[in-house]
Amino acid sequence: MNNRTLIEKCAERYDSFYLYDEKGILEALSKLKRCFPDVSFLYSIKCNSNPHVLNCIFGQGLGADAASLGEVLLASEAGLTRNQIYYSAPGKTAKEIEGASTKATLIADSLDEVARIQQVAARTGGVFRVGLRINPDFTFDNSHGLPSKFGIDEEQAVRFLQKYNYENVEINGIHVHLKSQELNPDNLAAYYDKMFGLAKRFYDICGGLEYVNMGSGIGVPYAESDTPLDLPYLGKFVQEHIRKFREICPGTRVIIELGRFAVCKHGVYVTKVLDRKESYGKTFVILKNTMNGFLRPSLAKLVERYTLGLSQTSVEPLFTCANAFQFLPLTEHKEVETVTLVGNLCTAADVIAENVVLPHLECGDCVVITNAGGYAAVLSPMQFSSQDRPVEIFMTQDGELIT
Ligand SMILES: *Cc1c(COP(=O)(O)O)cnc(C)c1O
Repeated sequence: MNNRTLIEKCAERYDSFYLYDEKGILEALSKLKRCFPDVSFLYSIKCNSNPHVLNCIFGQGLGADAASLGEVLLASEAGLTRNQIYYSAPGKTAKEIEGASTKATLIADSLDEVARIQQVAARTGGVFRVGLRINPDFTFDNSHGLPSKFGIDEEQAVRFLQKYNYENVEINGIHVHLKSQELNPDNLAAYYDKMFGLAKRFYDICGGLEYVNMGSGIGVPYAESDTPLDLPYLGKFVQEHIRKFREICPGTRVIIELGRFAVCKHGVYVTKVLDRKESYGKTFVILKNTMNGFLRPSLAKLVERYTLGLSQTSVEPLFTCANAFQFLPLTEHKEVETVTLVGNLCTAADVIAENVVLPHLECGDCVVITNAGGYAAVLSPMQFSSQDRPVEIFMTQDGELIT
């Protein structure tokens, strides 16, 4: 998004805000649908649950990947039906299972949870059609499985299904999600290849599957040095595999879910300069609501401090990579200076950039932070220190601003 006048107009009213761009989101979704015409997509609500963002995405025919009962209700209130909402999360309580059962397709995360679902279904006198989240005997990088808090180990699930005896639970699909933020299309292609094999295995054991949900992995370029994922290439690979898969498993829907691809690049965070000072030779620029308004840049800074000279591993969705966010000052000043960008919280941890060279900033100037459309507002401790919160502004494709 590069609409400076618009941002400055919003900044007249707000000292810190998110600005989401509907046009960008719609373009991302149509690219996906164009590249993967036979795939059903789910949007992972936890990435950005802003109501206008949800309406925009669900309006394009995507279903919902819900990670809590609250998200099931958001999707349901947005008009989605049970077979469009998939509720997949570890540690669901009996109460949550019951609350979601009429509104979403439950994805059981453990064998104990299948038993719990059976109890709820028996008590309410229904038959629940439930998917299993599988922890397969492979990963993106390995030909064997790894311990995980998510899902049921593949072999455990197989043994369980071979002796299956629950009357009120019918297993109708499988779900796997192993990784976020992959940018190498060959790694994703190899993963999808293994997933089609896994789906065939469970199709045979279950005597049919309504869906195989292959999870996410679809990454976006954060750092300027990142190469965007080659979607046309990946789409061709998947389409070809779906054609072969359908010959063996007709009628099984292939689902891919994603959060960040839809929204991450289509939102910015804007914060205003509140103050500036020199201290023992260092220039501090104090910005509104940084750590508490958009947590990830300060977390990235923290990771950088603790890993100086060491290699950094991503921990999604908290930390992706160094230089994942760009700081773009809006000012006419041409002369540059070396500054440290900090927030207005009463903690010294509230630093987003240290000793960076930027055009001279004055009080009231705005700094735009990129990649703020996903895992941004939803992931920030806005309750901390009782500050007023950043607002979220949604710009429709007609240029209308909705808060
Ligand atoms: C968070 C999550 C996603 C979305 O991941 P992105 O990297 O944002 O696409 C998909 N599936 C599951 C199960 C998740 O928990």
